Amino acid sequence: MRRSADELNKMRRAGKVVAEMHEATRAAIRPGVTTKELNAVAAEVLVKRGARSNFLNYHGFPAVICTSPNDMIVHGIPGEYVLREGDIISIDCGAIIEGYHGDAAYTAGVGQISDLARKLLEVTERSMWAGIDQLVIGNRLHEVGRAVQDVAEAAGFSVVREYVGHAIGTAMHESPQVPNYWPGTPGPTLKQGMVFAIEPMVNAGSYNTYVLDDGWSVMTEDGQLSAHFEHTIAVTDDGPEVFTIA
Ligand code: MG
Ligand code: MG
Repeated sequence: MRRSADELNKMRRAGKVVAEMHEATRAAIRPGVTTKELNAVAAEVLVKRGARSNFLNYHGFPAVICTSPNDMIVHGIPGEYVLREGDIISIDCGAIIEGYHGDAAYTAGVGQISDLARKLLEVTERSMWAGIDQLVIGNRLHEVGRAVQDVAEAAGFSVVREYVGHAIGTAMHESPQVPNYWPGTPGPTLKQGMVFAIEPMVNAGSYNTYVLDDGWSVMTEDGQLSAHFEHTIAVTDDGPEVFTIA
């Protein structure tokens, strides 16, 4: 779906709120902090900016961010988990302004992290930017996944299959989906005003996943680390415009 200039402006504003949630949570990440405390920091930003949460009550989700440490890939529920030196933590944030959505995620290290963890974060973020670079008018959407997969697999990592990016606008998750791998069939042609959330989830080991008994937390099957980076981006006449950036 193509968004009007007025709609894109609202999404730009929602994106700024999400960027501010990133800054605030990033500044709060340290050993000893609970994921519940990070959620409170993000909630404060939503209140301050007069934004609504698109995560809270989403299919019953109980918080305004997802917090997914180490071998948890995505959708972790903030709670009593205490961050420890050497952890990596994925933080996924979203906001609604005047009915329009922003959605973005990052993975950060807690204190000193292993060489493998550092490489995983660097490669996952780079794979996201390689995907974003494909969001140009006239290109096909599957080129995003192809670019992400190339970067991740060249580094010896794998790309999660069951969870994917998506179009975004008046709902957080709109059609079409944006796989982070070659989906086997070509995607739609990109047009000015389309907006997508590009969000590679990259595993250090295999791409297989399972969900914990809480019904939310998605884990790597082999217990190895996973990272997640995401931005909300519009296809414009001047190339990709990232909304969820300060
Ligand atoms: Mg997200
Ligand atoms: Mg998303």
